Amino acid sequence: MSFSVLGLSEPLLRSVDRQGYKTPSAIQAKAIPAVLSGRDVLAAAQTGTGKTAGFTLPLLQLLDETKSSKRETVRALILTPTRELAAQIDESVVNYGRNLKLRSTVVFGGVGIEPQKKKLKRGVSILTATPGRLLDLQNQGCVDLSKVEILVLDEADRMLDMGFIHDIRRILKLLPEQRQNLLFSATFSPDIRKMAKGLLKSPVRIEVAPRNSTADNIRQVVVPVDKSRKTKLLCRLIHDANWEQVLVFTRTKHGANKLTRLLEKDGISAAAIHGNKSQGARTRALAEFKQRKITALIATDIAARGLDIEQLPQVVNFDLPNIAEDYVHRIGRTGRAGLEGRAVSLVSVDEQEYLTGIERLLGRSLTCKIIEGFKPDPNLVAENPLKKTRSSKPRKRSKVNKPQGRRRVKQAAKR
Ligand code: AMP
Repeated sequence: MSFSVLGLSEPLLRSVDRQGYKTPSAIQAKAIPAVLSGRDVLAAAQTGTGKTAGFTLPLLQLLDETKSSKRETVRALILTPTRELAAQIDESVVNYGRNLKLRSTVVFGGVGIEPQKKKLKRGVSILTATPGRLLDLQNQGCVDLSKVEILVLDEADRMLDMGFIHDIRRILKLLPEQRQNLLFSATFSPDIRKMAKGLLKSPVRIEVAPRNSTADNIRQVVVPVDKSRKTKLLCRLIHDANWEQVLVFTRTKHGANKLTRLLEKDGISAAAIHGNKSQGARTRALAEFKQRKITALIATDIAARGLDIEQLPQVVNFDLPNIAEDYVHRIGRTGRAGLEGRAVSLVSVDEQEYLTGIERLLGRSLTCKIIEGFKPDPNLVAENPLKKTRSSKPRKRSKVNKPQGRRRVKQAAKR
């Protein structure tokens, strides 16, 4: 199938061609005609499926078709949970809309508000925003949302996880009743269904990947190792396999900082990206990583959510996430747009319960591989990791029953 059959206008087809996209991804093939038809859309799609173009391209077309010569006002609002994701979406809007005369901008917290006010003052048609900063700007009278025709809620599940529901409700009250709504979410939890029910009118439902499945083109391996030796093992893997670009996940901000220091000490250029870093430091770290100036980007879950790094070959779970669904999001950073990716999880004896939860969610066991010289000590007994690592927020932990992961990591240690 080619993009030309989806009903996109010639200037947009030229932008697509410029991006080098030959065929639409599954979500694009379904979402583009649905959005163009003017209907509400409820789409289940993970990042990496091409969903951004799936809503951006038709949105640009709809706005362009009904563009007036008056001063531009916000006609499309895209809400998204993280600053990085917001910046990426705006980049896509600029790229795909390069042959159209529609202005866009992005607003998010953690950076100065004045330049954002200035851009809004000039008038924009497409605004991408994180909820908190958008409300700040609205309270200061710098943005008018009363002419919004299209609302996009991107990564809606994560926005709820991050506690944005009240902000979203406040924003919805500022929008006109009559509008088109597009809701994208990686998972369809009961909360998302509830939100969709209140928001969407007879939506087109689109589902391109089964819930919580992971892309087939990601090779996933579990490496059992003692906790105290994880850093050494990671250094070894990076040096031996000559990894040039690896995204490493840790469970905590402190863990990310510490690992960054230790890798640097071993001669591996690294930077951390998490919520305690200033927006400037986060943007710099991401840019340097994308330009391959640094080898390892050490991230926590929230900071890394939705990051789109082209052709990222390698993801490492230095710690397993305590929320099984986060595993799917983490490894979804690699193997994007059909390219092959690898995900390695370093699993210590106290993380066996998490592994079990992940395997239950995936519906299959992951391949286990011992690295020579790093066989786990069979005498080490798991402490209760759930007590130590459970976050203060009331997030749900996946239920754990059959301890299959536990058996396999223990068996590996005995071998
Ligand atoms: P997204 O899921 O929107 O974050 O997109 C993931 C990646 O896929 C981005 O790097 C896009 O540039 C790329 N992409 C999107 N659509 C296509 C396509 N039709 N063909 C090839 N790559 C694409």
